[in-house]
Amino acid sequence: MHAAPALRRVAVFGATGSIGASSLDVIARHPDRFQPTVLAAGTQVDALIALCRAHRPLHAVIADEALYARLRDGLREAGLDTAAHAGSAALDALAAGDDCDTVIAAIVGAAGLSSTLAAAAAGKRILLANKESLVLAGELLMHTAQQAGAEIIPIDSEHSAIFQCLRSRDASLEGAGVRRILLTASGGPFRGRSRAELEQVTPAQAVAHPKWSMGPKISVDSATLMNKGLEVIEAHHLFNVPAARIEVLVHPQSLVHSLVEFIDGSTLAQMGLPDMRTTLAVGLGWPQRIDAGVSGLDLLLQGRLDFEAPDTDAFPCLALAWQAMQAGGTAAAVLNAANEEAVSAFLQGRIGFLTIPALVDNALSTLPVEPADTLDGLLAADQRARLLTRTAIEAL
Ligand code: NAD
Ligand code: MG
Repeated sequence: MHAAPALRRVAVFGATGSIGASSLDVIARHPDRFQPTVLAAGTQVDALIALCRAHRPLHAVIADEALYARLRDGLREAGLDTAAHAGSAALDALAAGDDCDTVIAAIVGAAGLSSTLAAAAAGKRILLANKESLVLAGELLMHTAQQAGAEIIPIDSEHSAIFQCLRSRDASLEGAGVRRILLTASGGPFRGRSRAELEQVTPAQAVAHPKWSMGPKISVDSATLMNKGLEVIEAHHLFNVPAARIEVLVHPQSLVHSLVEFIDGSTLAQMGLPDMRTTLAVGLGWPQRIDAGVSGLDLLLQGRLDFEAPDTDAFPCLALAWQAMQAGGTAAAVLNAANEEAVSAFLQGRIGFLTIPALVDNALSTLPVEPADTLDGLLAADQRARLLTRTAIEAL
């Protein structure tokens, strides 16, 4: 007989989002293994209350402090014991506190950095979906996690694939034995289009991803290929691999989630249907494998696997991300902040699709690169890039 696994107490930050929904789906399949103790959202207070009814956490947090009373009253009306909290300081305190040992970091954007850092400093297991925090403060976050003994398990299909492939060798050797990382990309909804054909695309077209169902910001990032650029930076920090050994391969079927080539000529790939519940189950159960509610891959049904080089002329964001990573220091923070502002303006119909890379390029070429060794320095660079980009949008 095997001993029952220890109950993991899980905080889901970004619970009302796409990753949040997939997380709670996997968690609910294993009530003997996982207890969702903290659920947090940005502004969607009614959706958060509905999740509390279904999952009965100890704590619920709404980041927008103006919504505190609505959360508290809603939980009371629902007859729940869940404690209501509001504001980012409450998020940080719960991330670090005793009521969770695992934090699913699934807030979108730089807004997720503070709670992710708090979880890292407290030595938690972090299931990291919030890639923007690694782009903004990769060295700081990885260093903080290492110092505190926090375990970071990537929740990005590509990085989970790489993580799984790398575990096939002695992990204490760090990057040793690895020749290349091949990061796959679906190519997004506009794969195959020329730059001129991208001029008039709409937000609705950009968020209609052919393979993955995701939140609006990452969907637009996938359409511009900025998502892949952010992921190259993410892989560099997570796996301590220099940029020169990371390559991007467009694979429209999204079944091979990434590959690792070793020095002996062996290449390992991880495959599966495009469903983030698999990735979340890997993180939640690791090193054990647990049911995710996802069926296996029928390769006869799927038929073929195609691979092609990315088109950096039509999709300059990928090259901009490489440029930022090469520049080092605060450049990636600038890239990320300018991109967040540009994507938000695009989603509001205020700028065109091709203006997104133009604004990111503008921020990178205007703002100086500074050392990225303090959180304050990184946040200042983030703020400068946001201000610059907002001003540029106003002037359009
Ligand atoms: P989403 O837009 O569906 O959800 C975002 C969540 O963050 C919501 O719950 C929202 O309430 C919360 N939020 C927003 N601003 C907040 C704030 N200031 N404070 C606290 N909470 C806030 O996004 P998503 O698709 O679930 O993506 C979440 C993160 O996971 C992103 O960083 C994305 O890049 C990453 N990711 C997502 C997928 C995917 O398949 N959806 C895959 C890989 C990585
Ligand atoms: Mg990804």
